[in-house]
Amino acid sequence: MKPFVYDRTYTEWKEWMKEEGEPLFRADQLMDWLYKKRVNSFEEMTNLSRRLRERLSDAFHLHALETITAQESADGTVKFLFQLHDGHAIETVIMRHNYGNSVCVTTQVGCRIGCTFCASTLGGLKRNLSAGEVVAQVVAAQKYLDREGERVDSVVIMGIGEPFENYDATVRFMRVMNDKRGLWIGQRHITVSTSGIVPAIYRFADEGLQAVLAISLHAPNQELRRKLMPISRRYPLSDLLEACHYYTEKTGRRITYEYALIGGKNDQQSHAHELGQLLQGSGALVNLIPVNYVPERNYIRTPRNRIFNFQRIVESYKVKATIRREHGSDIDAACGQLRAKHLDAERRTS
Ligand code: SF4
Repeated sequence: MKPFVYDRTYTEWKEWMKEEGEPLFRADQLMDWLYKKRVNSFEEMTNLSRRLRERLSDAFHLHALETITAQESADGTVKFLFQLHDGHAIETVIMRHNYGNSVCVTTQVGCRIGCTFCASTLGGLKRNLSAGEVVAQVVAAQKYLDREGERVDSVVIMGIGEPFENYDATVRFMRVMNDKRGLWIGQRHITVSTSGIVPAIYRFADEGLQAVLAISLHAPNQELRRKLMPISRRYPLSDLLEACHYYTEKTGRRITYEYALIGGKNDQQSHAHELGQLLQGSGALVNLIPVNYVPERNYIRTPRNRIFNFQRIVESYKVKATIRREHGSDIDAACGQLRAKHLDAERRTS
């Protein structure tokens, strides 16, 4: 299996060009074709010699993804279902905000973490994506936005999978995204979300990156978190908060805590008080997410007035809390929903 062009960093391209006996500026030219002109074939890279184009084509794949569907919502949200070279399907989403376009990328085919509110974990983990397969999702989203003369302004690593279980590819992806010869997305505009893989949080704190770290918290105490998120059995809440403290101390960056409100499970007033107390004084931001209905789990949504009340209580502890705006409610917007439908249709036709 040949590697993908998007797997490589600029430094690695320079090394490759050197090995090929090519001048180093060829690496800059190649980056320009890949990320600025965003061509679809090596043939189009006309300022590279025919020999070099053939060598590239022999050694690398340019296409990591085939589009199966691209659903566009009335609010501008675009949800892609992509097929990988081995037939697996993944999802990528473009979301429109008043501060720009954000792309949510997938890092794994499926997931083994088993959060009880998540459709993506139901079939388990199939495999990790390579960094290039993650980069290719953003390039494909940028090509879609090119038609409107718009750009990808930020990236959230919150699609299918636990990014810190695919740590090296995730960090490599972030470095490729941030390269000024590439799509040049500022580190502060890249958010990575983890369910709480404690050793990886310490490692990430020491990477020297300025990205945003988001923690999927979803419960204000260990007992409830164990029930909703099995990962909490391996890495208890107290250990997680200690790692978060280390991250904040080391980087000076504020952490975002994601809290999916699930009707009757973690959305009581007492939970809001506990959450406020837990994060008081940490400088954290809480992002409240009205949970999407998961038929397999019988989870229901928290009514809107209860969400506002929950927010007010958390904020009474001087912890900033926001409510996540819904994107693409008229399409299969819940994480994993489009892929789950696709897998179901495949099963029925096979
Ligand atoms: S929420 Fe994320 S980490 Fe948890 S099961 Fe779903 S994809 Fe995996």
